[in-house]
Amino acid sequence: MDLQQWLDLRQWLDRVMANHQKWTQEFGPHPVHPALQVPGGRVEDVLDRLAERLRDNYPFFHPRYAGQMLKPPHPAAIAGYLAGQLINPNNHALDGGPATAQLEREAVRQLAAMFGYTEHLGHLTSSGTMANLEALFVARELHPDKGVAFSAESHYTHARMCRVLGVRTASVPVDGLGRMDVDALESLLRKGEIGTVVVTAGTTGLGVVDPVHEVVKLRERYEFRIHVDAAYGGFFTLIAGDLGIDPEPWRAIRHCDSIVVDPHKHGLQPYGCGAVLFRDPAVGQFYVHDSPYTYFTSDELHLGEISLECSRAGASAAAFWVTLQLLPLTRNGLGAVLAAGRRAALRWSELIEQSEHLELYQRPGLDIVTYFPRTAPLSLSAIDKASEELMRRGMEADQDPVFLSVLRADAAAFTARRPEVTVDSDGTRVVRSVLMKPESETFLTQLHERVEQLSQH
Ligand SMILES: *Cc1c(COP(=O)(O)O)cnc(C)c1O
Repeated sequence: MDLQQWLDLRQWLDRVMANHQKWTQEFGPHPVHPALQVPGGRVEDVLDRLAERLRDNYPFFHPRYAGQMLKPPHPAAIAGYLAGQLINPNNHALDGGPATAQLEREAVRQLAAMFGYTEHLGHLTSSGTMANLEALFVARELHPDKGVAFSAESHYTHARMCRVLGVRTASVPVDGLGRMDVDALESLLRKGEIGTVVVTAGTTGLGVVDPVHEVVKLRERYEFRIHVDAAYGGFFTLIAGDLGIDPEPWRAIRHCDSIVVDPHKHGLQPYGCGAVLFRDPAVGQFYVHDSPYTYFTSDELHLGEISLECSRAGASAAAFWVTLQLLPLTRNGLGAVLAAGRRAALRWSELIEQSEHLELYQRPGLDIVTYFPRTAPLSLSAIDKASEELMRRGMEADQDPVFLSVLRADAAAFTARRPEVTVDSDGTRVVRSVLMKPESETFLTQLHERVEQLSQH
């Protein structure tokens, strides 16, 4: 965060505190119990020690951090979160937080509209994993005797959650670019044992989008549910058709049965904000709800009656709602944030292709760039060593550090992209940079030069 944003955030936090005080004062004085009082000066002391402890972090906020999917929330989301947190409503039930439950409904409605759902049932969750669990739970209720298929590049938690649910799984191979192989999927569907197919719109490793439209087409011949895991990539639908992003898979998402998207990934939110959406509101019937605490607020379904989780921070809904007021789910709103990262990824992959020292692993599907130092000889073991060293040298540099991450590619995946490589081990690590901060675009020349320099040691 630069100085100006810092000053803005301070003013916004003051405003939040002042607004909160105005509201609480309407209820008369409420003295703090001595049990909660802490000695003067102690808090400041502990906060300073905390600040020391927190130095043991990577600078996720800075574009020189170009590693994993990490960045701070938008300052406005922090202000919105604080406003909610000062009251600490629980979005499990309307009685626990009528205002934030309403804010959640409004935010979720915008998410559903972004994907083109005309009707929906949905809510925020504490994470993408919980949201996927919920979608797979509903899928199992509808197809209790059938399995769930997902691609070899899908998120590892699908297998884990299917195990939790006691559902059989099938892994679908991917093509040379890491997309679900639709012919392989069809062979699997032909056997009649698959009830649900999970497609990924933006894989975690490479940011690749499965051919959702082709999977949707298979429903003309086979009966199955489609769940879209768009935890990472979902918001890219705002700029589908721009910057070389094929719009077809994105347009097909509206025909799928459920969608997961993580506002805490590309939606500028603090952690604790995933979302699940169902196309058919009737799936609400599967959440058997028999809480012994009766609700008094309304006959409307409480969020807790359509979710697997119980307590959830109302503050998350407040933060997301505030963000959407300022950066709406449009091409020029939040879409502009994603477009900057996408442009950075395209530009960087061009620079890498022209580089004498680096090689591109694969052209980026969204905003994740994968590459490796050019080695002689070009062998898996040499690339592995060079990639690991590049990451480590960047991170440990006293001057001008850069923070990258690595991705493991097995020998088959690597040779599909680089048939000329000498296969002398079962796989290799390549370097991976998620350019999810729009500032990556302005920092790109510097980043590229530094990574090139570090790869020449
Ligand atoms: C991050 C991610 C998940 C898991 O979401 P969490 O919010 O980390 O639990 C699931 N699927 C994909 C594609 C992801 O990128």
